Amino acid sequence: MMQKGAFMRGTDKMIVKEIPVPEIGDKEVLVSLEYVGICGSDVHYYHNGCCGAYKVDLSQDYMLGHECAGTIAKIGKDVTSLKVGDKVALEPGITCGKCEFCKSGHYNLCPDVVFLATPPVQGCNEEYMAFPEDMCFKLPDNVSTKEGALIEPLSVGFYAAEQGAVGTGDTVVILGSGCIGLVTLLACKAHGAGKIIVADLVQARLDKAMELGATAVINSGKEDALAKIRELTNGRGADVVFETAGSPVTIAQTPFIVRRGGTITLVGISAQEEISFNFAQIMDKEITIKSVFRYKNIYPKAIAAVSSGAINVKSIVTHEFDLEHIQDAYDEAVHNKTDLVKAVVKIK
Ligand SMILES: [Zn+2]
Ligand SMILES: [Zn+2]
Repeated sequence: MMQKGAFMRGTDKMIVKEIPVPEIGDKEVLVSLEYVGICGSDVHYYHNGCCGAYKVDLSQDYMLGHECAGTIAKIGKDVTSLKVGDKVALEPGITCGKCEFCKSGHYNLCPDVVFLATPPVQGCNEEYMAFPEDMCFKLPDNVSTKEGALIEPLSVGFYAAEQGAVGTGDTVVILGSGCIGLVTLLACKAHGAGKIIVADLVQARLDKAMELGATAVINSGKEDALAKIRELTNGRGADVVFETAGSPVTIAQTPFIVRRGGTITLVGISAQEEISFNFAQIMDKEITIKSVFRYKNIYPKAIAAVSSGAINVKSIVTHEFDLEHIQDAYDEAVHNKTDLVKAVVKIK
């Protein structure tokens, strides 16, 4: 049986071609994919051929996509927890299960992880995918596969809120209002945060943050963000600061935004490896610095939060394209930084 799959062919070019539908193993399911999100990392690979230390071999076609959900079309003979017709969200990292990190529950740090669309591992911009049963999370009836595809970025936000230990009534500042900034906002709300202040340079993203429940937004291109945050927190600073923009400028701002004894959570990845950072502030204020690498043990919680209505994750989507127009989707994600917050590809 054949299916359609989308591949990047060199940078800035996407083709759709026929490829075989994969065979499944005994502990695997065949998922008929319905939605795949476009992540910042996909856009970097598509436009630059690399993301951080990972490079696409541009001499071959390469499939992007790691945020996906669909319906089970077939199950392997030893699969017990899922059945044909179940809607599932796929957690895209398949870990070894044997190393010290996997065994201690910190599987996001597994050195042998096979993560979709992280070269040389192929992604999921295709109609059918074989996947291990235990990495497919069943969606309740009231959660759609479009929401299912957004569980992956939402999990980053949830894990960030968990790392920052956001509690009821906390004052939170989120630097960056792109997809990850917005899912962090949603997760902070679900964790009971009080005041949530979001700063960014792009007004459309700030408008989205307001729509999703931010208490106040700051356009850092027009206003002095540090002064405004001081004013909005009555000079106290934030209990938790999240840096999601991955910019050396905003990373360097974090020690000046957090309150004494507060926590900085670094989520955005900067292309620049060494960044000047005021450690005198860190020491004087006894600040805790946390960081985030992907997520772990979050999918069931994130799905439950969407199902309960605590989080309206689908409202982060601003653009939707079908598989035939995937090149347009990626081009739009590269070039339209003003209106595009999150794009998804509807596979079928
Ligand atoms: Zn992603
Ligand atoms: Zn491992």
